Amino acid sequence: MVLLLPALTYYLWLSLRDGGGALIAPSPALLARIPPPTLGVVGLYLAWLVLQLALYRVLPGRQVDGATLADGTRLSYPMNGWSAFCVTLGVVSLAVAAGWLPASIAYEQFGPLLTTANIAALLLGGLLVVLGRRAGGAEASGSVLRSFVAGVTLNPRLGRLDLKFFCESRPGLILWILFDGSFAAAQWERHGRVTWPMLLVLAFQLLYVVDYFLHERAVLSTWDIRHERFGWTLAWGDLVWVPFVYSLQAHYLVDHAHELSSPSAAGIVTLDCVGYAIFRGANLQKHRFRESSTALIGGRPAEFIRTAQGALLLTSGWWSRARHANYLGDLLMAIAWSLPTGFRHALPWFYPVFLVALLVHRERRDHAACLAKYGADWTAYCRKVPWRIVPGVY
Ligand code: NDP
Repeated sequence: MVLLLPALTYYLWLSLRDGGGALIAPSPALLARIPPPTLGVVGLYLAWLVLQLALYRVLPGRQVDGATLADGTRLSYPMNGWSAFCVTLGVVSLAVAAGWLPASIAYEQFGPLLTTANIAALLLGGLLVVLGRRAGGAEASGSVLRSFVAGVTLNPRLGRLDLKFFCESRPGLILWILFDGSFAAAQWERHGRVTWPMLLVLAFQLLYVVDYFLHERAVLSTWDIRHERFGWTLAWGDLVWVPFVYSLQAHYLVDHAHELSSPSAAGIVTLDCVGYAIFRGANLQKHRFRESSTALIGGRPAEFIRTAQGALLLTSGWWSRARHANYLGDLLMAIAWSLPTGFRHALPWFYPVFLVALLVHRERRDHAACLAKYGADWTAYCRKVPWRIVPGVY
């Protein structure tokens, strides 16, 4: 994983840069095309991290407690992601307007930036091993490589800085949107206009990230925050995979400045809105229900199964249609993000294909964990709600 995943990110980028969007033949000779980091890019990336750390630290935000940990305690998290996002957009816009930062920098310096972020993820993975072993985490006695890849502790912290919570959103999601904006600027510089497909991709992905920050506290109940140890895998996903790969559609569109017919654009917007409504609706229903079982779900009192462990499983609203309707919404949005790129090349369809694999695997893993945890109650729940992700299909 440590070698293949970064290699894949370079391959996708080289296919864009050297193949014009067509997949190029993979060969060891491609290694010679990996650019080293430059001093300027390393400085810029460091400044970026420092800015995000400073905003995390100084911006006001409600402190919210996360889920109860195995030792019965709860950690507190600052909900200042939305203000960090807005301030970042302001700072970057000012830097571009003042001429300190070229608007198309992500496009021009993508290779050195990718190498720098990969190195940052390696260093962070190493730091997490040291911190975890000092804290005597669950895997402290395992092999160093395993500790590095899978992590040692669930919630490593440096003082008040929760490294996993910070990396999940700030250097990953915000950078993704900045990259999209930079790709739009690059398209403008090359073609003298920003096309509708580019604007749609920008708007859809902006909605996704804004939505994340407006519902930031909901992330505290997700699998990653509650159950996944923080090691290189998650750190690399946050620092590299999200900003450098999730922006692939906008990246592709820089040099593919085609337009869309109005009916096609309207259809794509409708698909994204439907996906968003299912995704947000399902996640909010579960979140509200877990906060209070008397919450109204779809305007009616919630229906649920009470498990022997005491936890309640919602069986109304979206959670009566499929056990992971939230994944269905995510998948519909992913398709809507790639449709504006057209069908000429497979490359900009990488994200929906990857997301299908990720979410199908994730659902199976979650199913196994819930079966182990809730036993017969989970089996009864599966009988009541037989579909995994797509009602009537899967
Ligand atoms: P969920 O938010 O669906 O959480 C699953 C957990 O919820 C289960 O482990 C269980 O935890 C609880 N649960 C399951 N069924 C019920 C029920 N009927 N009633 C109440 N609680 C239930 O999954 P994820 O954390 O995987 O995903 C969160 C969101 O993030 C999703 O919308 C997903 O699409 C998105 N996502 C996006 C990714 C991307 O790269 N685009 C990657 C990963 C996720 P317990 O009972 O133990 O509390």
